[in-house]
Amino acid sequence: AMAEKAVATPLVTSKISPPTTTPGKRANAVFVILARNHELFGLGRSLQQLEQRFNHQFNYPYVFLNDEPFDDDFKRVAAAVVSGNVSFGLIPKEHWSYPSWIDLNKAAAGRKKLKNIIYGPSESYRHMCRFNSGFFFHHPLLAQYEYYWRVEPDVDFTCNIDYDPFVYMQERSLKYGFTISLHEIPQTVATLWKTTKDFMAQHPEYVSHPNTLEWVVDKRTGDYNLCHFWSNFEIANLNLLRSERYQAYFDHLDQAGGFFYERWGDAPVHSLAAAMFLRKDEIHFFEDIGYRHSVFENCPTGLTFNLQNCNCNSKRSVNLQTHTCTGDFLKLSPQSDFNITTMKQH
Ligand code: GDP
Ligand code: MN
Repeated sequence: AMAEKAVATPLVTSKISPPTTTPGKRANAVFVILARNHELFGLGRSLQQLEQRFNHQFNYPYVFLNDEPFDDDFKRVAAAVVSGNVSFGLIPKEHWSYPSWIDLNKAAAGRKKLKNIIYGPSESYRHMCRFNSGFFFHHPLLAQYEYYWRVEPDVDFTCNIDYDPFVYMQERSLKYGFTISLHEIPQTVATLWKTTKDFMAQHPEYVSHPNTLEWVVDKRTGDYNLCHFWSNFEIANLNLLRSERYQAYFDHLDQAGGFFYERWGDAPVHSLAAAMFLRKDEIHFFEDIGYRHSVFENCPTGLTFNLQNCNCNSKRSVNLQTHTCTGDFLKLSPQSDFNITTMKQH
């Protein structure tokens, strides 16, 4: 199932040049980093690269969040490595615990059922995914900001970024930016699509037209095709997540309990929200940003590769391979619209 959607056409041209934005223009933006104390070394690596490739020129601030207090080593190293202001936040218990309506036995049975899948048996992973789906953007330390860029430990930024991606988003009214898209593991989201369709049936007024639902629907079966933006890298507008419709969607999912009974990831949740709530031209593929997380990477081709001094292998870029959904995303028309109830595509 993971590789059934082959990309028919190469999606990266040989002529990509790095974008530019107006020098000196600023966005109201912040880096958001959820991490644990023991991840300091891996996070330091990520931050060094992010600073050297981008932020030493721009000095955007950072918000670090944790479900436990950060220790002194963590705070000292984080503050020393980055050029922007830093703040450290503790996640409130309500945002990292079981809600009252969750049946803990059913949750334990759900973990057992997924014991052979990555993070299948993990409780903390589920709290993390639920937090990234429904709560991080409510943290008081983020209240003043409009755009965020999510960063994780142990990722690589492999090309210079000489323009400001936040300003780029702002100047084009972009709401969501990604570098990698993949197919989700089916068992982790067994009822996510049914739950999402119920939400759309109850709240048709929240679904945008045009939208990008076509990107997530398997047209033969009407099921979720498992496509999602890989959310360990995200540059997005916080107001998308703070919106009434996103909140209603998250609450609907949270009530259904799939964050605990299955293992719903924040990546498919953010992606299904983007598919319902955003037009194609509000979503941006940051093709020029060299980025690696574990075995998957985006590596630019063309002029960008040399002009931005990339240290990656374009041929290994996941967006050229069959397990990505990026080619299908780029093929959508800006007018793409999809009506789930009638399965009609316009
Ligand atoms: P993966 O990318 O899906 O393999 O998952 P990660 O282990 O990288 O977790 C995703 C993000 O959440 C990373 O930024 C982690 O540092 C963070 N994270 C995961 N679990 C926890 C946790 O229990 N506590 C805290 N504070 N952060 C976590
Ligand atoms: Mn990760």
